[in-house]
Amino acid sequence: MRARAAVQAGMRQRLARTALVLGPVLGLIALLHETVVSRLPGPLEPGIAPVWVLVFVFLAAELYVLFAASRTELVALSPHDGGVVLGLFLVTPSELLTTQALGAAVALAVLRWRQPLEALTRLASLALGTSLALVVFHALLAVIDDPLGPFGWIAALVAAVAGSGTATLVAAAAGQGSRSESVRTTLALAAAGSVASSSIALAAVALARIGDVAAILLLIPFVSCGVALRAYSSERRRLEHLRALYQSMRSVQRAPGLETGVGELLATTRRLLDAKVATVVLLPDDPSAAPLVGTARAGRETELAPAHLAPMLERAVQLALEQPGGLLVLPGREPAPLRGLLEELGLKDAILTALRSDSGAQGVLLVGGSGSAPSFSSEDLRLLETYAGHAGVLIENDRLEQSLSEVTALKEQLRHQAYHDALTGLPNRVLFAERVARAIRSGEPATAAVLFLDLDDFKTINDSLGHHVGDGLLVAVAERVAAAVRPGDVPARLGGDEFAVLARVVVPEEAERIADRLVRSLAEPFLIEGREISVHVSVGIAYGTPGAALADELLRNADVAMYDAKRSGKRRYVSYEPEMHLRVRERQELAAALERAVERGEIGVHYQPIVDLTGRRVVALEALARWTRRDHGVLAPTSFVPLADELGVMIEIGRTVLREACRQARAWQVAFPGHEDLTVNVNLAPSELHNPLLAHEVATILLETGLAPDRLVLEITESGVMRNPEEARQTLLELRELGVALALDDFGTGHSSLAHLREFPLDCLKIAQPFVAGLPAGELDAVFVDAIVRLATSLGLDVVAEGIETAGQADAVAALGCTHGQGFWFGEPVGELGVSSYLGARQLPAGARLPLEYVA
Ligand code: C2E
Ligand code: MG
Ligand code: MG
Repeated sequence: MRARAAVQAGMRQRLARTALVLGPVLGLIALLHETVVSRLPGPLEPGIAPVWVLVFVFLAAELYVLFAASRTELVALSPHDGGVVLGLFLVTPSELLTTQALGAAVALAVLRWRQPLEALTRLASLALGTSLALVVFHALLAVIDDPLGPFGWIAALVAAVAGSGTATLVAAAAGQGSRSESVRTTLALAAAGSVASSSIALAAVALARIGDVAAILLLIPFVSCGVALRAYSSERRRLEHLRALYQSMRSVQRAPGLETGVGELLATTRRLLDAKVATVVLLPDDPSAAPLVGTARAGRETELAPAHLAPMLERAVQLALEQPGGLLVLPGREPAPLRGLLEELGLKDAILTALRSDSGAQGVLLVGGSGSAPSFSSEDLRLLETYAGHAGVLIENDRLEQSLSEVTALKEQLRHQAYHDALTGLPNRVLFAERVARAIRSGEPATAAVLFLDLDDFKTINDSLGHHVGDGLLVAVAERVAAAVRPGDVPARLGGDEFAVLARVVVPEEAERIADRLVRSLAEPFLIEGREISVHVSVGIAYGTPGAALADELLRNADVAMYDAKRSGKRRYVSYEPEMHLRVRERQELAAALERAVERGEIGVHYQPIVDLTGRRVVALEALARWTRRDHGVLAPTSFVPLADELGVMIEIGRTVLREACRQARAWQVAFPGHEDLTVNVNLAPSELHNPLLAHEVATILLETGLAPDRLVLEITESGVMRNPEEARQTLLELRELGVALALDDFGTGHSSLAHLREFPLDCLKIAQPFVAGLPAGELDAVFVDAIVRLATSLGLDVVAEGIETAGQADAVAALGCTHGQGFWFGEPVGELGVSSYLGARQLPAGARLPLEYVA
């Protein structure tokens, strides 16, 4: 649509320009004719030759002009001027103007009927030139005695030059003729050509005057001059073309990239063929995609972009691709399938040919002209074919180069991806290991030090705030790690929340300084998506001994040291020592044994009484897991619950404990009168709390064992709910729904206890042992316990004081308002038999210790 509008605009502009020139010219002719020409005397040598000869001369002259291959050729012969000079002597001014108009009009009518306005301009410019020649000639004759003598000849020559010069200027002003010689050269050549052909005409007049038919012989030099000129100009054009071809190929070849190359190609094609437009259509690699199209026009930048072709152009491209040679599309003589192409493109004529290379057609190159006469010949087509042959190869090379550079870029990208972490952009484990290996090989005096970093409790952040925030945090951590190391050190992300730094150090202190910087830098809070997040890091450092330590081993050692840093309280760095491996191995063995503990029936349960502090009665028993590990004796839960939780086996252990505790509690309820309401407390590990099937499993166990739901208390810890508070809340609500009671264990040791009290459906608080330990003497502890009791009471929660070891502590917590107590003072955790023995006693004597059975 846009192309069509542009063409229409171009045509309008040309019409306006032509009309602008035509108007004054016609006016001038009318004025000249009215004032001078019509009053001029008759012929000087009437009757020598018939008037129709002049018509024929002008017809031939105009045909020659229309078919002249170049402006040089045209003006160098100026055939019209011969006719004008003949007319000055042989016919009346009116006859001269009429014969010229007639001859030229017939020639124009044959070839230019499509553009009547242009034809009219041409006729007008001829008429003006001739009228002027008449005026000049007769004005000069007024001062010459013998008009047929040498002075008359000079007058005729001057008149002819003045006339043809004017006609040339008018044609140039109307924008006719698109050949590129300068106006000065054209005028100079026109004057010379005018003098030459006028002289021949004068000679013809002179010979005719003496009745010599030899006048006709003068046609021979004239025609042979024309033929020679044609041959010369065609040879000259070929040479010019060759030079242009060579130069344009060089400039296309030099252009960087396909787009500029094609732009250059089109510009040179236009110049080469003196065309109005040059268009290239490049076939896409993917046949379903639109072709790349670029068009060069005067004064406009060429853009190469995918575009859909107009219907006729598409057909033309198809045709050019199908046939071996190019296509010459001339008005009225176009190949049948391409009728309408010139109108569609707004062109006078066009030539097109396929751009071919060894691997096939690359596309099609089309050039179009809009000059007054058809400007392309079969010679131009051959030139275009030659040119397109070279251009096709260049384009293919360019495309190859482009796809080659694309492949190289892709390879580089893949290489980068293979060696870098996508999230943080840091080197990944593969690249890091490579760098470590290289650093170890490079030897003394510096040693390769690997710092292994692991974020503390990153999983909790990721689970509770979402992976999006987790990712943001990792990126921010990566930035701080990179900023904390020295230039030349290699920071890397090994995966998950593990980072590492490779540093070449001379003394261990250098690595320690970096580790210290890392720990301190990461301890500063992060601001991720508007949230302030605190995360800490544990760092392990290991040193490579050149030639001894392998890269893998060095990384493993740093990892082991990092674990040690975590175990010894996190937020610190620890340097590797060989015995650490022992601990790691122990841990690995523990993990392996733990995985088989349940199926081997090694998990047992001990119970610790929870006593009603007013009546000193056992009202509940807390179930505490015990692992009787082969060759290791009985293990306390603190030594295996965290690992089991981490490994995922805690869910199964927890299920075993719960089932056993419920079964046992129900058995005691039945066996011991007065204990029908006996409650059992069971601990839930973080992983259990996030088991979506928990409520379902609890309900099943209650059903299986026959324990009433309100006789079961599930104890949760704050670290357990912290991992994903929303999920935990959901599970707790489901448990509540079952009728199970919920207790918050170790209250006071977590971070945000008060918030949890509000958010979670709780029934009971268990005051952590450290608060009780300071009683009765510690006043501050008393204040805390008092405050907790008041808070709990106002929220309607029961309070159990944990870790009561003395009578004084029992009395103190009772005095502060605690309803229940638990601790060694009342009884240590014991097995089934131990519990049975004291459940039989009706009431516990005040201050009496229960039988001890279990010693951790
Ligand atoms: P907890 O739930 O707070 O259990 C009370 C812990 O305090 C028990 O340690 C108990 O032996 C100890 N204790 C009781 N009275 C006193 C006292 O007067 N002084 C002192 N110093 N300590 C006292 P235990 O049995 O080693 O259990 C430790 C922790 O392991 C438990 O703390 C609980 O959080 C966890 N745990 C125990 N069994 C299980 C279980 O089956 N599942 C889960 N998830 N965690 C369990
Ligand atoms: Mg507990
Ligand atoms: Mg506790």
